[in-house]
Amino acid sequence: MDTPFWNREIETAERSRIEQIQLQRLKTIVGWALRTPFYRKRLTQVGINAPQDIRRLQDLQRIPYTTKDDLRLNFPKGLLAVDMKEVLRIHSSSGTTGIPTVIYFARDDVDNWTDLLARSITGTGAVPGDVFQNMMTYGMFTGGLGLHYGAERVGMTVIPIGGGNTKRQIQTMKDFQTTVVHVTPSYLLHIHSRLGEDGIGRPDLALRKAFIGAEPHSENTRRKLEELLQIEAYNSYGLSELNGPGVAFECVCQKDMHVWEDAYIAEVINPHTGAVLKEGEEGELVLTNLVRRATPMLRYRTRDLAFLYPQGCDCGRTHRRLSRILGRTDDMLIINGVNVFPSQIEEKIMRIPEVATNYQIHVDKNGALDRLTVKVEIYPKLFLGEVAKLEALKQKIVDELRASIVISPLVELHEPGALPVSEGKAKRVVDDRPKD
Ligand code: ADP
Ligand code: ZN
Repeated sequence: MDTPFWNREIETAERSRIEQIQLQRLKTIVGWALRTPFYRKRLTQVGINAPQDIRRLQDLQRIPYTTKDDLRLNFPKGLLAVDMKEVLRIHSSSGTTGIPTVIYFARDDVDNWTDLLARSITGTGAVPGDVFQNMMTYGMFTGGLGLHYGAERVGMTVIPIGGGNTKRQIQTMKDFQTTVVHVTPSYLLHIHSRLGEDGIGRPDLALRKAFIGAEPHSENTRRKLEELLQIEAYNSYGLSELNGPGVAFECVCQKDMHVWEDAYIAEVINPHTGAVLKEGEEGELVLTNLVRRATPMLRYRTRDLAFLYPQGCDCGRTHRRLSRILGRTDDMLIINGVNVFPSQIEEKIMRIPEVATNYQIHVDKNGALDRLTVKVEIYPKLFLGEVAKLEALKQKIVDELRASIVISPLVELHEPGALPVSEGKAKRVVDDRPKD
């Protein structure tokens, strides 16, 4: 497949070359880590006192995992490896699951990160001259400035509009003939549902591509977006602890995301035992950042569930691909003893043609038992038909879900616009069970 490259030499490097770069960079980053109070203690405990103690790539496995709690307990400067005078920028996570964590970037860290984003963007076929509307939240969240810098480096025309204000987003897409957007999949679905209001419809827009990320979504959601909007949608994965977006990105082949292995070492582990798993086996993704010295991050447990493919992709890139994120170890719901991931529910309902663009999962107690309710918006014309048809649709959704998650949920059908909309990361689960 004829595809563009940002840095062909690195993107198509032989495995041995990639591993050589990884080893050399790992040594360097361990050197930086040893300057932080947190890692000095951690690493010396396992006999790593200097970069030379890392001799082979396998020595990585001697390093203990780093967790989100480690970052919180060492807030604000326990993982800072450079003098504050060298820090060019501070970012933090969006705090989906608690207190945000802080990440420092030196000048070369920002530069390296920007380069990874330019590489990611180019891999989707976006080119200089594309008009790029960045609908992600700016501020300390990495989705705003990260892609912004990357797109500028590619030479795109950047519109730093930020999240929210749907009317203005649509108007701006029309006024500047936006060709590429960066957005959460849930918000793009919402934007689609608002097209046509104010007299601006799909034919008035020049949209070709969307970079979708920051939240879990299924392949069916991607296909739905592509069909509804007549665009190509590319999955984008990253987390602030590892810079932000640009960790893994889909190429033109759209068969899951290349992890930039010269900049990150990706491992997949069994989340219960910590054992490292083989390619193809699903588990928790663990990442080491090889190119950020102000806040070194070694073997960070992402809590994201995924698997790695063996090397190889039709685009010619040699960096291994990561599956889409199948769930988070911490978003699993236990409903009357049965484990349910929100992603399983989304996967099913987004395949049902009558279902529109928004849904919510609600859990509460009915006496002693847990009760799962799935609320879905369906297209308005369906409410004009016979009640029997609506009942049949409801039953169809229940049956589909039961086949996947084993338990039988209650299903509520709503008109479009009835369920809460998020302009950034969607909050799909409302758990009203009393905490004990
Ligand atoms: P947090 O949400 O933990 O506060 P971030 O803002 O850094 O912190 O978000 C990173 C998290 O967002 C990832 O760990 C992952 O769970 C989720 N995420 C990011 N991109 C994707 C994606 N393409 N698919 C699924 N989940 C994603
Ligand atoms: Zn590829």
